[in-house]
Amino acid sequence: MTNRRNFLKTAAFASAAVALHSFKGKPEEENDFSSKKGMKPIVLSTWNFGIQANAAAWEVLKNNGRALDAVEAGVKIPEGDPTERSVGYGGRPDRDGRVTLDACIMDENANIGSVGCLEFIKHPIAVARAVMEKSPHVMLVGDGALQFALSQGFVKENLLLEESEKEWKEWLKTSQYKPIANIENHDTIGMIALDADGNLSGACTTSGMAFKMHGRLGDSPIIGAGLYVDNEIGAATATGHGEEVIRISGCHLVVELMRQGKSPQKACEEAVARIVNLTRKRNKNLKDIQVGFIALNKKGEYGSYCIQGGFNYAVNDASGNRLIDADYFLK
Ligand code: ASP
Repeated sequence: MTNRRNFLKTAAFASAAVALHSFKGKPEEENDFSSKKGMKPIVLSTWNFGIQANAAAWEVLKNNGRALDAVEAGVKIPEGDPTERSVGYGGRPDRDGRVTLDACIMDENANIGSVGCLEFIKHPIAVARAVMEKSPHVMLVGDGALQFALSQGFVKENLLLEESEKEWKEWLKTSQYKPIANIENHDTIGMIALDADGNLSGACTTSGMAFKMHGRLGDSPIIGAGLYVDNEIGAATATGHGEEVIRISGCHLVVELMRQGKSPQKACEEAVARIVNLTRKRNKNLKDIQVGFIALNKKGEYGSYCIQGGFNYAVNDASGNRLIDADYFLK
């Protein structure tokens, strides 16, 4: 995970620099996306792949599009990228060699949709949105989620690509079918956005923890854990060990802390502190855990915090698209 991140970091910084450079070149008025309500759009997403994802979301936001459409378009970028091995197409499989995907989406009216342990569909976020808009339910998992996706016209395809299969076979030799939290490669794209109308939405999608037990769900398909949006207050999304995020209903907690008056930064810090305290109480080793939160409030202020160093996130607003290293607890 770390090597890949360091490698990508360099590339992403380069593309962020290009994005900033080209942005500066535009005339002033073109950069003013404030609406009649005076809101300026902004989008945040987790990890290096957030830069490219934000760019796709920004295309929607800068044209006064809806935050919901922006976050769906944004997270589809890493989902569809076969070289991104922790999200969507090309993701790492579970311990049985099956690529199972988790995703959820939430809009400004508290409409929600989610899929868990979904196989064979390249864009789980689009299926989550279909669950939200076209089913009477909010969450579908496994075979039922696949059945629903096919009924909606999604195409069944192989998601296990050569590189991931090779890695899995290698893993089988040493890990004896026991997923060990911190040696697995896993990341999530979580994206939260505020549009020119002042509305918030979010999306979250992942292939989860590599080599996990079949059927394992992390936080990413769980509204309130991996993602939460309250259009009066703010939005939050998470990455890292889903088990720990679920334990504290992480993103709902972050939004509730913002409701109590905390800044997005302080809200993320307090949510991380809860995980830290519970980990210690449970006599588990904090060094084995990584969790990062990003949060955005209704005013467009944002923040992030994580347990250990190495987590970064991308922010795109009228002043450009850039990567930020999140502050962290274990120094
Ligand atoms: N949160 C994801 C999960 O637990 C993985 C990650 O973001 O690293 O499935």
